[in-house]
Amino acid sequence: MKNMQRVIIFLLVIFLGVNLGINTSYAYTLVLPKEKKSVVNKEHAFFVGKAQNTEIITINDKKIYIAPNGAFAHTVKLKEGKNRIVVRSNFSTQIYNFYKSAVSVESKPALKEFEPKRMVVIKDRTPMRDNPQNSGMNRLSHLFEGTNILVNGEQGDFYRIYLSKNKTAWISKEDLKEPDKNEAYTVPTFITMNSETFKNASVHTIEFTGKLPYTIDETDKEIIFKIYNPEYSDNSVYTVNIKKPAKYTYKTILSNGTYVFKVNELPVPEEKTLDGMTIVIDPGHGGSEPGAIGCLGDKEKDINLRIGLELQDRLRLMGANVIMTRECDGYVSLDDRIKIAEQNNPQIFVSIHLNSIPDIDMNIRKNRGTSVYYYNDNSKELAKIVQKSLLKELSTRNDGVKQGSFKVLRRSEYLSILVEAAYMTNPMDSVLYREDGFAYNAARGIADGILNYLVCD
Ligand SMILES: [Zn+2]
Repeated sequence: MKNMQRVIIFLLVIFLGVNLGINTSYAYTLVLPKEKKSVVNKEHAFFVGKAQNTEIITINDKKIYIAPNGAFAHTVKLKEGKNRIVVRSNFSTQIYNFYKSAVSVESKPALKEFEPKRMVVIKDRTPMRDNPQNSGMNRLSHLFEGTNILVNGEQGDFYRIYLSKNKTAWISKEDLKEPDKNEAYTVPTFITMNSETFKNASVHTIEFTGKLPYTIDETDKEIIFKIYNPEYSDNSVYTVNIKKPAKYTYKTILSNGTYVFKVNELPVPEEKTLDGMTIVIDPGHGGSEPGAIGCLGDKEKDINLRIGLELQDRLRLMGANVIMTRECDGYVSLDDRIKIAEQNNPQIFVSIHLNSIPDIDMNIRKNRGTSVYYYNDNSKELAKIVQKSLLKELSTRNDGVKQGSFKVLRRSEYLSILVEAAYMTNPMDSVLYREDGFAYNAARGIADGILNYLVCD
């Protein structure tokens, strides 16, 4: 009898042990939120994670979608003050508390106007903008250090720049300084201008006795380069209209008061090869900067690199000279990525990323897929053709070709695009980007897109 009791207890212990084991290993895990309690300053709480295969999950009693690989993502709109959110499954219940601080409505700073005064740009590539905001697609040009500017107003952190009777612009106060009191200064005057056309390039020069602000506009057929000299006269604007080639890059150089504006036509490759082309591949993030984290814990930086390395192989096979901004898991700053590009004089720069869902009410079916970004007009057509080619290879949702002010896209001396292959935080996309062939197919999509762009008329 005693033996029987021992056997029963033994079996009971095993039964309980196994059950407890199953209970813990079968519960969902969350990548987001990171904390059970947090104070936030955003509109939505994000729940991203992995469920086990028999789990059904509700978040505040709403049943949520779980992809075949267990991935899920869900947003909850937060109200001001305390928010208690219950994540429940058949195996585990966890409670999250968010405290949303009251939104302070910042009043728009008032515009102050004053008599025009001269100021000086303190560093190269200072953005001159359409409006007094430090974001968005509002850059008119990037000015050179030492450019003489006429300031006639201020609003918040910006000075208003007087360019001509019909045009004003804005520059961040921290990018301008008062002129040196001891400096001998005379208002710059025009000396000469000249245009020369070569086989695959045109070079336009305008010479002044000092550095002046300029803008670049593009229409369907032309690039319009303007230099303003408002201290000389309200209407002193020098304009160069340059006919656009179909595929082109351009660059503005300033030396000793001479502006050199150079437009290059892209070479047409020999029969289906990329011979003679230099292409920079920029796998996003790396090292201490993981990028977006997927529902199942994948790191964006790793997938970016996998795609980048596949793309490197493929472009080299097609004959291109390929430069990588990183080839392993290390941190590279955005400025260094641009420097690497500049030093290698490429025709094309491709940055590779996977997207994450912003602070919105997420729609699993809509907030997913592939998009390609460009900044300058000269890269728009390349973005379109690469997007088309990627969609064919990846079978992802078409999330569109978009214009975006990303730092790595702003140079115009080479074509520049940023690929968002899929959304890290979308459960449906997580099934796609975890497939074995994803990186290879993405690379094929990008490479074929580049070639198709270069050979098309
Ligand atoms: Zn990224």
